[in-house]
Amino acid sequence: MKIFLARTQGFCAGVARAIETVEQALATCGTPLYIFHEIVHNTAVVESFRSHGVTFVDDINLVPDGSRVIFSAHGVPPAVVARAAAKQLVTIDATCPLVTRVHQEAVKFSNKGMDVVLIGHKGHEEVTGTAGHVDPALLHIIQKKEDVEKLDIPAHKTIGFITQTTLSVDDTREIILKLRARFPRLTGPAKDNICYATQNRQDAIKELAEQCDLILICGSANSSNSNRLREKGEQLGIESHIIDNARELDLQLLEGRKNIGISSGASVPRHIVEDVIEKIRERFYPLEIMTFDNPEKDIHFPLPIL
Ligand code: SF4
Repeated sequence: MKIFLARTQGFCAGVARAIETVEQALATCGTPLYIFHEIVHNTAVVESFRSHGVTFVDDINLVPDGSRVIFSAHGVPPAVVARAAAKQLVTIDATCPLVTRVHQEAVKFSNKGMDVVLIGHKGHEEVTGTAGHVDPALLHIIQKKEDVEKLDIPAHKTIGFITQTTLSVDDTREIILKLRARFPRLTGPAKDNICYATQNRQDAIKELAEQCDLILICGSANSSNSNRLREKGEQLGIESHIIDNARELDLQLLEGRKNIGISSGASVPRHIVEDVIEKIRERFYPLEIMTFDNPEKDIHFPLPIL
């Protein structure tokens, strides 16, 4: 059996930055330390920090006044920042700089009084954070191309669009094409706001799909970018499964297969993938591991000031 490891997978620069931010905050300030939402959407990462005394909250009001709180990589709406200030919290912002850039575009459109179409998954923390930067009267969140027809905006208006950073590249392209067809004066980023990490990981699945007869995606069920990787594999006709850890891998799935592709979402620690490979190696021997040069290895984002 051969294992093909996706060329780009695992931690992106935004996730690495967020995790390092928490590690440094723990090292320099200790606990109590609160994090607003999961720092990144990965069970192993969250459980590890929890075991070091970090408290995760989904409501800023649950953080005791004057405490230290880190905002997750997904970003927060201004209302949360304001509430934190009112409670005199010491805040550390681990929002990915690429998400912050989308916030800035949202504010720019909103301040001009333009309707803003936000393409993304309603309820996802990143979308909630970005949406909060837009005047509610101007905000339209859409998720799929069928939603374009339902937009209650006159076709002649100049409207702005922004996107979640972890969407399907191909699906988003289709949605934007429909938006352009319906709103000739549409304005927005040159292509979309999908980040380099999402793009690279989806491209790497296309490579795996040409070589493999099964694809395993390491990632948590609530990880947007991990779910898009599994969907991409399926769209390309390759049976694909998402697993949170090696325990979730059903080895029966691998019986009779020759070439297994393995990738992992942008929030997944490397040890999860290594555990999965070890579990496969115990049953299937000999196992050949094919690796490829990672074009992202020199991308780093500076840490926020603690
Ligand atoms: S997936 Fe993209 S936007 Fe999200 S944290 Fe990583 S680099 Fe930033």
